[in-house]
Order: sequence, then C-alpha cells, then structure tokens
Amino acid sequence: MKVIYVDNNATTKVAPEVLQEMLHYFSEFYGNPSSMHSFGGQVGLKLKEARAKIANLIGAEPDEILFTSCGTESDSTAIRAAIMSNPDKKHIITSRVEHPAVKNLCEYLSKNGYRVTFVPVDREGRLDLEFLYRNLSDDTAIVSIMWANNETGVIFPIEEIVQVVKERGIVFHTDAVQAVGKVPVDVRKVEVDMLSISGHKIHAPKGVGALYIRKGTKYSPFLIGGHQEKGRRGGTENVASIIGLGKAGELAIDNIGKESVRVKHLRDKLENEILKRIPNSMVNGDTENRLPNTTSISFEFVEGEAILLMMDEFGICASSGSACTSGSLEPSHVLRSMGVPFTAAHGSIRFSLSVYNTEEEIDYIVEKLPPIIARLRELSPFWKA
Ligand code: PLP
Repeated sequence: MKVIYVDNNATTKVAPEVLQEMLHYFSEFYGNPSSMHSFGGQVGLKLKEARAKIANLIGAEPDEILFTSCGTESDSTAIRAAIMSNPDKKHIITSRVEHPAVKNLCEYLSKNGYRVTFVPVDREGRLDLEFLYRNLSDDTAIVSIMWANNETGVIFPIEEIVQVVKERGIVFHTDAVQAVGKVPVDVRKVEVDMLSISGHKIHAPKGVGALYIRKGTKYSPFLIGGHQEKGRRGGTENVASIIGLGKAGELAIDNIGKESVRVKHLRDKLENEILKRIPNSMVNGDTENRLPNTTSISFEFVEGEAILLMMDEFGICASSGSACTSGSLEPSHVLRSMGVPFTAAHGSIRFSLSVYNTEEEIDYIVEKLPPIIARLRELSPFWKA
C-alpha cells in the first residue's frame, strides 16, 4: 500500500540530495574534523561549509552557529546558557503552548528555584502580548517564545516581541524548529539572541540540530568537554548529519521561494475540502498567521486516535495533537490552552505537508476521510446527525 505521509511536523523524509552528500562521510572521509592531519582536516572544511550554509539560511554569521544533537538540545542549551550566565536572575517567561522541549524544562526549573511565567493564548492560539510585557522584570533572565507552533502552525509576532524584550536588556530565545525552512527567518531583521533549529524537520536526518547564538550573547556550555565548536559544546561532531543539515539548509532556501506556494495551495485545498465535506469540523488556530504546510482540524464527537487508526488502514499518516503527546488520550496542552471545547479537542487531527506531497495525495485523503468520520460518528453515543 502506498504511504500518504502528511505528518511532516513530526519528522520529514531525508531529501535524496541530502543523503547523497552524507554517504561519503561514513566510510570514505571518516576522519575527525579536529585532527591535525589532512585526512581529518578535509572533513573539518566540509563542516565549515555546512556551518556557512545554515548561517546563510537564517542570515547569521557562520561562527554564530553551534551544531547540536537535536532541537531539544538547542532549546535546553539556550535556556540553560541564559540562566547560568545570569545567576542573579530567577525569572523565566515562556508561553503555554511551547513544545515539551521548552515547556517541560521550564516546569522542571519552576520546581528548582525559578519563577516561570507562562503566557496564555486566546481561542485562536494568539499570544496575550500585554500579559507578556506586563510580566517583564529586572529579575527576568530569559524570554523564550516559539516562532511557530508545531500543532496549529500559528506564527507568533516574534519581531515585535523581540523589540520590547531587548529594550529591557533581557535575553530572547526562540524555538524556530517548525518555522525554519517553511517561512523566511532572518536574524538580521528579527534580532533574537538565540534560535533553535532541528535537522529532521527540514529533510535532514534525525539527531542533528543547530543553535544560533548572536555575537556578544552571554553563553555557558551545556555539554562541557573537548574544545569542539570553539569550546561551546564538547563532543566530536556528528559529521555526516551536519553535512546533511547544511545541504538541507541550501535546499530549504529554494523551497521557501517556490515550493511553499505549492505546499500552501495543497494545504488550503485539503482544509477547504474537508470543511466542505465533513459537518461539525473546524480549523484550530489563527488562519491568517500560519505556517503554509500545517492545518489542525477538529472533528466533533469522535476520537482523534480512532481517526488515525482508520486513516492508517488507507496508508494515510497524520497526527493527533503533537507527535510527542501521541500515545496519551489527554487532549494536547496546546488545544487546552486555546480553550478548544473538550468534544472538539479530542477529535483533532494535524495534517502537515511537505514539498513531497502531491495533488493526487490530497484528493485521496479528501475522498477517504468523510466516510471514516461518518462511520466513527455512527458509533459515537454523543453524535446526533
Ligand atoms: N520544538 C518544536 C517546536 C518541535 O516541533 C520539536 C519536535 O517536534 C522540537 C522542538 C524538538 O526537536 P527534536 O525532535 O529535534 O528534539
């Protein structure tokens, strides 16, 4: 059976061009990039190239890019760096709808000597900016707000927030894991201090990421060890994956220009057809400021997990809530924070597209989904057609 993969906010396929570049660095050019000999040195040069490519993707300087093992490590490194290098400040501001990589770290810190303010969102998933600004204080070590939400795709006004936060001299970090590669992200225009990237969301492999650290930002390493990454992260670099990440960054620049228009067209078609064909279905989140590839749709009076299982029988792969909350029957913290009613939050499905999706795939989903929802509603004691 053909797989229709519309779960690209969970992870993406490694682009064939990316894989091709990576393969040489396993068994052919396997030297250590830190070695003095030229066999290792040539690998070091490729690492340098990859750093420049990722820097170029977000308008940074190459030495402002630190390679990490994933988006989660980038987030942790940023937040820990800010609090470690501002030891007198004991307050953190973040949002209620962050990915667990930020949310759970902040909850942990709130039990370990820090006061954390979680900024609420409205019914459309938009941040309460007044609340955020009111809570900035001289004790705030860092404000960490995601660029775009992984479940709804809602994009936050980072440029405006950064200006207000930076005026107060407070460090600003953004988890841009879902934004980079999908919408333009330029740190020359949006002056964040730190920004997280994850490889496997942009057609590079899993297990590699990057953290942008603006020149002059106070920093303290998370992984203390060797002198790699200019002493900012100990540990021999994941060379092949970093080279893959560089290539993926290069491809992403092209895709943002051309392909994202096509992807948005497919997403809009999917969304409009679903809303037209399936009664009591609704889109979650602000549809104006949204990633071009994402739609979160609630189907009232059905369980998201049941929908996923039935779609799976047709080879359709999507997600209910975020990938990291699947397996749990609790509605996601994002939809709960938005105040999505229980009957709708439970039946929410996230479709997230990529450049590899086709119009035929969208037609297929639009054909298969209505009878699935109708069948599940027939079984639901709460559904009255
Ligand atoms: N931040 C966001 C917004 C994400 O969507 C994810 C992954 O789903 C992460 C962070 C974590 O990235 P990684 O899986 O590379 O640790």
